[in-house]
Amino acid sequence: MRRTGLVADERFLRHDTGPTHPERPDRLRAISAALAEGGLVDELVRIPVEPASMHWIETVHHPAYIERLRQACADGRRFIDVADSAICPETFEIALLAAGGSLAAVDAVMQGRINNAFCALRPPGHHAEHDRSMGFCMFNNTAIAAQFLRQQHGLEKVFILDWDVHHGNGTQHTFEHDPHVFYCSIHEDPQYCYPGTGFAWEAGHGESRGTTLNLPLAPHTGDNEVRMAFEQSVVPAIRTYAPDFILISAGYDAHQDDPLATLDWTDAAYDWIDRRTLALAQEFCDGRIVTLLEGGYNLDVLGRCVRAHVELLLRGEGLHVGETQFGAAPDWREAAKDASSESIWWW
Ligand SMILES: [Zn+2]
Repeated sequence: MRRTGLVADERFLRHDTGPTHPERPDRLRAISAALAEGGLVDELVRIPVEPASMHWIETVHHPAYIERLRQACADGRRFIDVADSAICPETFEIALLAAGGSLAAVDAVMQGRINNAFCALRPPGHHAEHDRSMGFCMFNNTAIAAQFLRQQHGLEKVFILDWDVHHGNGTQHTFEHDPHVFYCSIHEDPQYCYPGTGFAWEAGHGESRGTTLNLPLAPHTGDNEVRMAFEQSVVPAIRTYAPDFILISAGYDAHQDDPLATLDWTDAAYDWIDRRTLALAQEFCDGRIVTLLEGGYNLDVLGRCVRAHVELLLRGEGLHVGETQFGAAPDWREAAKDASSESIWWW
């Protein structure tokens, strides 16, 4: 049995986005209920959360943006920068807490108190840029955690796997000049999907060329194509990079039942990616994984898939992915010749 940490703080519920916003407190209530129903809560190590210090926030964000967010919340404004980034008077403090939660989790893993962790955070982070909010995101929790691993713990190679249906523009832009942090994202084709970045040709700059990997998927891409993309591109990337730590920006909005995008993954896709990623983490970095919640707006899907993910983090059972998980593995070379494979245009 592994020791798995959980960052879940009811103060995250106080980030009030209004009555109709998809990124709402009920998302965390759904996760909490699913973990309780699965009998998992007592087995998890609760990680206490404190606000991140300005030092760590400023490793990713410009001080002027941080101050602008603080002031906007203090002034009682209802959004910052873009209309979908809803805020309330407490948002600034809660965003500091969310970033602090990500730091506490990675620190606990590095200190050996836990093997891995799941962080049920709000607000999410992967769209947040150096100097502005985007797409419901205030501070980039995952990017800040990666900077912490680099600067506090001296890790040389941090791998970020982002499987939210939307490209994590903020995370990519933070690290596209930094070969010490590999950013890999699987998402819906930016021609059709927010935020309009994450094309395959975005691959990093200068000496970090090759440590950004974008895998855009055409609308309605389903489980088998995702599996092929992962096997063809993500697995070799992780094997070649041989990371010291894996951070997962976990969104559950690529699911076929999610209202915000049009990919057609089922629970089985998440299960397969979970098992594959955990097995690779075991192989390369002693199982060091911290998963940070990004999107996912169907509450049933969110609860089910997070529970399944946490169960795997905790028990680590069956990490071997057998053919029976998904049926026979498709032959991607044959599939590529087939007209239906046009859905994976990045080949
Ligand atoms: Zn998303």
